[in-house]
Amino acid sequence: SLPIIYAITPTYNRPVQKAELTRLAHAFRQVPRLHWIVVEDSTSRTDLVTRFLARCGVPYTHLHVFTPRRFKRAGMPRATEQRNAALAWLRQHRGKRDSGVVFFADDDNTYSLELFEEMRSTRGVSIWPVGFVGGRSYERPLVSGGKVVGWYTGWRPDRPFATDMAGFAVNLQVILANPRALFKRRGSQPGMQESDFLKQITKVSELEPKANNCTRVLVWHTRTEKPHLANEPKLRKDSVDIEV
Ligand code: UDP
Ligand code: MN
Repeated sequence: SLPIIYAITPTYNRPVQKAELTRLAHAFRQVPRLHWIVVEDSTSRTDLVTRFLARCGVPYTHLHVFTPRRFKRAGMPRATEQRNAALAWLRQHRGKRDSGVVFFADDDNTYSLELFEEMRSTRGVSIWPVGFVGGRSYERPLVSGGKVVGWYTGWRPDRPFATDMAGFAVNLQVILANPRALFKRRGSQPGMQESDFLKQITKVSELEPKANNCTRVLVWHTRTEKPHLANEPKLRKDSVDIEV
């Protein structure tokens, strides 16, 4: 049977949260054998996400961990603790006999269904282009003779792995075989989370290029505009309390 794809999604409370999760669920429910690990950035599981997941039609695990306030500043990496909580869950609940592929799926990106077909065959660590990152319309690994030999990127080409969180997948057994591999806060510069993590588990020469030797964009680092809420009533509220 197909290896299970574990999609790890950190998420936090804001006006568009339910809309983002709805968009994601619509993609994920069309993917066979996908297990969604949703990690809320909150002190407990919220009612909104709990109710949403119960009805979303995707097999899931619902976790939470609150990012300490001191880490919630501009220019700091986001969702470090949440991704690590998901890795810890996998290490506790999955073992040597389980086949799977682990993928980091932020809640605001856009995912093509083909991306999941590509990553399903990941034996070690696979990699592919991502749209709208690095200050360019896309960033991609340069491939020669089936190997990654460099990076096409507009931002810090000196990064050991010049890829976005949405640009790679890891075989579950690699996650289990490297029990100490984690996303780091200490010593991690902004935008270096991916490189810092990948360095712990693989080498550039071992990367498995997907998406036609990294020549197709199957995931986009889209970002959702904040809705304008300046006209929300302060006094004459609606007569019903509606979850949005
Ligand atoms: N996120 C989070 N807590 C935060 C900010 C972000 O859990 O305080 C999540 C967010 O929902 C998303 C991921 O972390 O799944 C990356 O955040 P964002 O999309 O804002 O980052 P960017 O697009 O700027 O890389
Ligand atoms: Mn984002």
